[in-house]
Amino acid sequence: MTDKQPLLKVRDLCTYFYTEEGIVYALDDVSFDVARGQTLGIVGESGSGKSVTALSIMRLVQSPPGRIVSGTVELLGEDILKKSRKEMKQIRGGKIGMIFQEPMTSLNPVYTVGNQIMESILLHSDCNRKQAKERAIEMLRLVGIPLPEKRFGEYPHQLSGGMRQRVMIAIALSCNPQLLICDEPTTALDVTIQAQILELINDLKQQTGASVIMITHDLGVISRVADEVMVMYAGKAMEYGAARDVFTQPRHPYTAALLKSIPNLEEDVERLHVIEGMVPSLSKRPQGCLFHPRCKQAMTVCQEKRPALTTAPDGRRVRCFLHSDAVEKEAAHG
Ligand code: SF4
Repeated sequence: MTDKQPLLKVRDLCTYFYTEEGIVYALDDVSFDVARGQTLGIVGESGSGKSVTALSIMRLVQSPPGRIVSGTVELLGEDILKKSRKEMKQIRGGKIGMIFQEPMTSLNPVYTVGNQIMESILLHSDCNRKQAKERAIEMLRLVGIPLPEKRFGEYPHQLSGGMRQRVMIAIALSCNPQLLICDEPTTALDVTIQAQILELINDLKQQTGASVIMITHDLGVISRVADEVMVMYAGKAMEYGAARDVFTQPRHPYTAALLKSIPNLEEDVERLHVIEGMVPSLSKRPQGCLFHPRCKQAMTVCQEKRPALTTAPDGRRVRCFLHSDAVEKEAAHG
């Protein structure tokens, strides 16, 4: 692959869950790229498909009931959806590292944190145990854990939430992954620790040259770290473009509504703006635009037809009839 090619290229990815209530279209025809050394932010409410995107890339969708139905996930030019289970095990924790929301559920309570970092290093490298231990201590130091030699022998419950998240980052980065997927990495932490963890992920990204996918419902987090952003709703990408542009000039009504719902300390408002209504059931999706029941700018066409994701001349992609020729053509025809 050439340097111009993205590190990760996802095309037309569909992941459905086959339940008794019907098919849940958790991820429906999603495409995006992650460039080398860049951070893609994926944002949306619960049920928008953000986490299923991460699980699909890692091939960790629970099956049954879930299944990746179609699409490709190319990492360094190779479709990892075609890899065997054994190969995927090497890719996970090797070329791709992952950090989850709640480290307590990802860390094993009966092993010391040092052992858990070592285990990952031994699985994905040629290190012997002595080298793996040295590397594990180095990783603890790198993620800002004081007295790393002492912490090496401690158990997860002996550490604070912020420290546990640092251990998860150490595990994820211990094999120099090219891609780091962070799924709500700071949601369970208080605001000060949240800022420190985001700063740490950003610093480590600069140091290692890794690309990052940052998944969160929090636009404030994305605005601090992302180069590009994809806004998801009901399993589909609604808007996708350079983070700075999307934040300053959102084009999709859903993105605009999400941005309005961020608390602003400088504005004297009595009540926070909320997006009225609920994310639709993914097994009984509304006809037309999936956002139309909640959209203040909905038109008649929005109830009847589903808008496509169209690309503007400046590269911004938006799934909305307000930004598509289709409506203009319909209007011209009467
Ligand atoms: Fe709103 Fe229509 Fe655009 Fe959907 S297509 S976001 S309903 S204006």
